[in-house]
Amino acid sequence: MLKRARVLLLNAALGPLDYRVDPEHRVEPGSIVLAPLGPRQLAGVVWEPERMPADAEVGDNRLRPLVGVYDLPPLGAPLRRLIEWTAGYYLAPPAAVLRMALASASALDGGRTITEYRLTGHVPPRLTPQRAQALERIGERQGLVRELAMIADVSDAVIRGLVKAGAIEPVEVAVDTPFAPPAPDHAPPALSPAQAEAAAALTAAVKRAAFAPFLLDGVTGSGKTEVYFEAVAEALRQDKQTLVLLPEIALTEPFLKRFTTRFGHAPVAWHSDLRQSQRRRAWRAIASGEAKVVVGARSALFLPYRALGLIVVDEAHETSFKQEEGVPYHARDVAVMRGRFEGCPVVLASATPAIETQHQVALGHYAALGLPDRHGGAQLPDIAVINLLKDPPPRGRWLAPTLVAALAETLAREEQSLLFLNRRGYAPLTLCRTCGHRFQCPNCTAWMVEHRLMARLACHHCGHVMPPPRVCPECSEENSLVACGPGVERIADEVAALFPEARAAIVTSDTLWSPAKAAEFVNRMEAGEIDIVIGTQLVTKGYHFPNLTLVGVVDADLGLSGGDLRAAERSFQQIAQVAGRAGRGEKPGRVLVQTREPEAPVIRALVSGDAASFYAAETEARRSANAPPFGRYAAIIVSSEALDDTVATARLIGRNAPAVDGMAVFGPAPAPLAMLRGRHRQRLLVHARRQLAVQDVIRDWLGALTWPRSVRVTVDVDPYSFL
Ligand SMILES: [Zn+2]
Ligand SMILES: [Zn+2]
Repeated sequence: MLKRARVLLLNAALGPLDYRVDPEHRVEPGSIVLAPLGPRQLAGVVWEPERMPADAEVGDNRLRPLVGVYDLPPLGAPLRRLIEWTAGYYLAPPAAVLRMALASASALDGGRTITEYRLTGHVPPRLTPQRAQALERIGERQGLVRELAMIADVSDAVIRGLVKAGAIEPVEVAVDTPFAPPAPDHAPPALSPAQAEAAAALTAAVKRAAFAPFLLDGVTGSGKTEVYFEAVAEALRQDKQTLVLLPEIALTEPFLKRFTTRFGHAPVAWHSDLRQSQRRRAWRAIASGEAKVVVGARSALFLPYRALGLIVVDEAHETSFKQEEGVPYHARDVAVMRGRFEGCPVVLASATPAIETQHQVALGHYAALGLPDRHGGAQLPDIAVINLLKDPPPRGRWLAPTLVAALAETLAREEQSLLFLNRRGYAPLTLCRTCGHRFQCPNCTAWMVEHRLMARLACHHCGHVMPPPRVCPECSEENSLVACGPGVERIADEVAALFPEARAAIVTSDTLWSPAKAAEFVNRMEAGEIDIVIGTQLVTKGYHFPNLTLVGVVDADLGLSGGDLRAAERSFQQIAQVAGRAGRGEKPGRVLVQTREPEAPVIRALVSGDAASFYAAETEARRSANAPPFGRYAAIIVSSEALDDTVATARLIGRNAPAVDGMAVFGPAPAPLAMLRGRHRQRLLVHARRQLAVQDVIRDWLGALTWPRSVRVTVDVDPYSFL
């Protein structure tokens, strides 16, 4: 029995610390414990000392005793290995990764009920503006005082005042009520021969219970979900847990519906929109093994599954699987590592798999399962180009006559249309026509984006908002401000002007910010209450609307202007995905792509349907540039509020770059987003050959240097954003 324990505490600034284990406590590696730290007490996890070296050895006689051991299953060895691997690969403190595993502080405590609050319906006389705001915003919701205060954007005291006044009441919520288990044979679908073959390969892998990565590759609408649901069914029969990762929480709701139809009960959801009590309940059920199927955002990847038997990454090509804040990891890649440590199959499902994934297939590391046809005999939509140079919209408009005519025909047939433009708001730039002043965010190198629905200008990087000014702040001219370029709201205006009788809906992260909002949208679409959807990338994936027969891509050139190494691939994926929303039922679909560059390889590949040669050309370009997946990048971002400190630190790092064979360092230079959230940013880009242990080099390089405390240096291994 352990008499001393090495503990990784939930404090990213600290290394592991040793504690004395008194006889009343029993611990093993993985035990979740409460440990003293100075005057405080902190949760942590017991670790194998040889895997987590301490900075200094402390003698037995100087050790402080552990306060307690939580009555929870210890974190399994596979998860501990994953935490070590993630910390090492992404150069992050192990405690920062551990925090993602122990993602619900309240889940650690016992007690089976929690007190939440909700409106009583009684409105006290004499409401202060804050109280009125709280009552209005809380509406039907329920939560802790702190959660309601956040929803209402008021202080805790305002909520407590409303409790005293009788407008809000406490409710006891049982937090550990069990989840009903999904039934593997509830409503199995009829599979096509191709689907059945792929499903058989996956169920066999689940039975083998060994690491096996798969690419489930099939055109949009080919029924990939039904196929991996068969693997989920097998995991249920084996009494194993399944994790399904989705790229957006807005997709959770349609997924839950499909899942419930197939398995009779909903899976356990895990995403940022959960209340604390729901989070706690889910976490404990995952740790106990009672949650059989978990569907979640990337953060679900680090949860302490008791017996994981299958991991599915749906829409695996999506860049939103890359986390940019905190520990900058890629959930698709970490999912594969988790499968390796857990010894279970991992399914990456996509109609437009990433070049990195296809390369793994080419190397023979991943098995490829293909679904060549659309499910149920539906045809892939015809994709045609509208050359904006030859067939331009009228001045001040954005939809070409051909697209407008197609919208009119679709409306006349009482079918649904989707207009895709990956730009939120009304206009991306506002300027003064008298003096040329442009509205820029005071905190970022970015324009303020006009949102007419909210009557605000907003920065999409830091969230800074301002009311739309009546007067130019530079030249004081009135009514001189003009909106430049279109966002989805402006397209919606154009649609309203062209088709006043059509029912339009805007779908962006501004309108579909929660699973409930997404469910509402899906219901309205299915009920035929929407004729024309105008949406950003949020509508490009996952949805299945049989009556949607026309897709118009408003500006296909937009994604190519970014110029980073994945721009062409991303454009291809995005347009192929949005095109895939058309004609998913019995009616054929039609896709019109507006572009100024009809001869660009991306556009030609989309029109011809020849994805293979596009991918081959892109892959060759990457190979000759030694770009991923052939070479590797790491970005070092230096930021601080003081420009001098930022530049000096970036130069210090640049000057001390080690000379390593097979590695080159570019910069420092101001980052494209030279200012972000009030911090100046400089960037160095490390380019290395694949085989080089670039993390070790960077760790030694940065570890030997010191910089002012106010300067932050972050490393992004395998970066996706080049801003
Ligand atoms: Zn002006
Ligand atoms: Zn900003």
